[in-house]
Amino acid sequence: MQFIQGFMLLVSLIILGYIGLYSLINRKVPGAIFLFVQMLGGIIWSLASFLEINTLGLYNKIIWRNIQQIGVFTVPIASVFFAIAYSKQYKFKKYAYALTLFPLLDIILIYTNYYHHLVRSGYVIAENALFGQNLIVKLTDLGSILVAVNFFIPLLSMAILFNYKRKVALRFKKQVSLVILSIFFMLIFSWAKTAVLEKLGVYIPIAVLYIPSTLIMFYCLFKYNLLNVSPIARDKVFDVIKEGIIVIDEASYIVDANEYAKQLISKYITEEENLIGLKVTDVLKDHPEILDLYSSKNEAYVELKYKVNDMDNYISCSVHLLYSNDAMIGAILILNDITEKKLYEISLKEKADRDSLTSLLNRRGFTDRFNYIVEDISGNMVSIVMIDIDYFKSINDTYGHMAGDKVLMHFSELLNKYLDTAYALGRIGGEEFAVLFNGIGKREVFNLLENFRKKVETSEVIIDDKVTISYTISIGITDNNTKDIDLDELIRKADIALYEAKDSSRNCTKIYEGV
Ligand code: GH3
Ligand code: MG
Ligand code: MG
Repeated sequence: MQFIQGFMLLVSLIILGYIGLYSLINRKVPGAIFLFVQMLGGIIWSLASFLEINTLGLYNKIIWRNIQQIGVFTVPIASVFFAIAYSKQYKFKKYAYALTLFPLLDIILIYTNYYHHLVRSGYVIAENALFGQNLIVKLTDLGSILVAVNFFIPLLSMAILFNYKRKVALRFKKQVSLVILSIFFMLIFSWAKTAVLEKLGVYIPIAVLYIPSTLIMFYCLFKYNLLNVSPIARDKVFDVIKEGIIVIDEASYIVDANEYAKQLISKYITEEENLIGLKVTDVLKDHPEILDLYSSKNEAYVELKYKVNDMDNYISCSVHLLYSNDAMIGAILILNDITEKKLYEISLKEKADRDSLTSLLNRRGFTDRFNYIVEDISGNMVSIVMIDIDYFKSINDTYGHMAGDKVLMHFSELLNKYLDTAYALGRIGGEEFAVLFNGIGKREVFNLLENFRKKVETSEVIIDDKVTISYTISIGITDNNTKDIDLDELIRKADIALYEAKDSSRNCTKIYEGV
């Protein structure tokens, strides 16, 4: 019997000791130190009661019984302090300090009982066939009340945690419930040991009885990292972080969303108050590609565009899949408002793509537009027009560089005004311009450009009261004949046509007819 008791004690002491040590190492974490005190109390209680049953004689047994009381009275109150710290409900702390007077008073009264007999009225040794000598302590009414109060203290810890559980997010409720259950088991078994088992002369070390409770605590410690990141801290991060976080399940329903995600979504996407329970594709409407990311089983990133009051707004969305035992159980979407950054990027690109004098596309912007349609609509008919102002050098020489600039600006206005069916208008050299037509061939473009040339010929640039300038242009045209030729090649061909126009008296339009 003694061997079995010893073995039970050893195993349970290892568990209590392990959690105690773990708590001590992590003592900076709120609540950890009280968990340590609780475990220490359990160890004192268990060891002393083991020694009590394994010594003979009333006097020795009383000494060990008294030492046990240190554990008996510290464990419940430590659980209250643990519950307060773990749940960060520090407002209860002053009550906990007041309550500490009870166990303190108990221990003092027990240790001085010899002088006043206020809590204990006597001791009896009962002989038990199975467990041998068994010490029975007779309590006074006051002693019974103090013991009873001590048993109710863990109820308070449970109440504190229940109160906390109401407030925490859904995902933490299970964890808090387990901590409550752990305290409940502690309460039940402490009560069973003192009120039932000891009276029957059945000896089981309290450390053994605490096993269910400590195992639950043990599970929480490792499963939820109880002492490393307390739920409230995670909760806080979730709610204050300036990134929208949406948790979805495997059927793509939203199960959780933080404050910032709600703000973002109500600002740009939907007025819907409560996102929980909605399908993510219904919320991020117009963007079915989200679901593609989700089903592609890869972590991914997309930029979503929403129009609000005719303004473009951009939200970035990265998808992080959640797995449990290799099965996908859902995903986290992280949303960011990138509107400002995006608009800035677009304005920078726009600036970089345009010529500052005329605001027409520069060579780079023009090339981008060309590549965009060629890549986008492969096999499309595109035409390229090259335009050069005739004798521009002499305009500069006669009227000055500023007047030359005015002519360039005037010409770009004419381009915008009369060639509004063009896909892109560019200034790709000093007084050289390029026009891109999408979907039409060189013959059709020829007619458009001949009309345009005549408009230019008959227009005047007013420099000042006395000076007005008239000028002409020469034009070369080519098309890709529905084959995708690169821009440089098309420009080269349009240039050949342009030189031809220059050679034959200028102020005319030529089509590239070479092979
Ligand atoms: P052609 O009819 O053969 O085209 O004769 P051109 O004088 O127009 O041609 P040329 O290439 O000899 O001269 C182009 C001139 O354009 C030379 C250069 O000083 C002028 N130029 C280039 N960029 C600008 C500019 O931004 N502003 C002004 N005012 N002149 C420019
Ligand atoms: Mg010229
Ligand atoms: Mg030129």
